[in-house]
Amino acid sequence: MKFYFSFIRKYAVLFHFFYFITTWLFVYNKISIKVKFDALVENLLNPNVFVIVSGLHGDEPAGNTAANYFKNLPNVKVYSNLNKTKKRRLNGKDPNRHFDTDDQNDLQDRLLSKIEELNPTLVISLHEDDEVDGVYAYCSPEIEDKVKGALMKSKIQLAVKAHGDVTDQGVISNGQQPYKGTLERALRRRNIPYCTLETPCADEEFETRAKTLISIVSDLIV
Ligand SMILES: [Zn+2]
Repeated sequence: MKFYFSFIRKYAVLFHFFYFITTWLFVYNKISIKVKFDALVENLLNPNVFVIVSGLHGDEPAGNTAANYFKNLPNVKVYSNLNKTKKRRLNGKDPNRHFDTDDQNDLQDRLLSKIEELNPTLVISLHEDDEVDGVYAYCSPEIEDKVKGALMKSKIQLAVKAHGDVTDQGVISNGQQPYKGTLERALRRRNIPYCTLETPCADEEFETRAKTLISIVSDLIV
């Protein structure tokens, strides 16, 4: 008898979970963001842990919308809208130049501790760039091919150059970026793979940028 109860309980949980996902898919379809159902199912079966970080710079909003889209996946941890000032800086400092520095503050401390605790397969950080004309990524060399594959399907053109680095099919893996004090440098020191995505916020509409990020991230978390 006990066995049957635990059996029913187990499937009731699963049922609720799928019911929740289905409702969630429906809502997202309503606001016309195309859902990659295959990627979501793959993700449910995937034992890897992924971290998505967005909004370190408060004036780069598309990343927050994209990150929140993945919030309820069981093996994805989302830290979105970290800098709520709507400006690049927080307390006068660029939040993505103060990781592992002497004057690192709470935001950096907390985020790094959480990531160290999770020891994820990959950390994806979402940003926007108003000085480029295309989407690009900088990432750990070991995931370069995977990132290229994800970028290949982008509806936004790929940036050829970004801040002095030439991209290879939109990817920089051995360039000047990541700069000192960035989350990416801190992850590299800890041997945690990272991929940072940048969308061209001066040239493209918000919805196109958010959708592009969702599509690329969907390919990176499978
Ligand atoms: Zn940024």
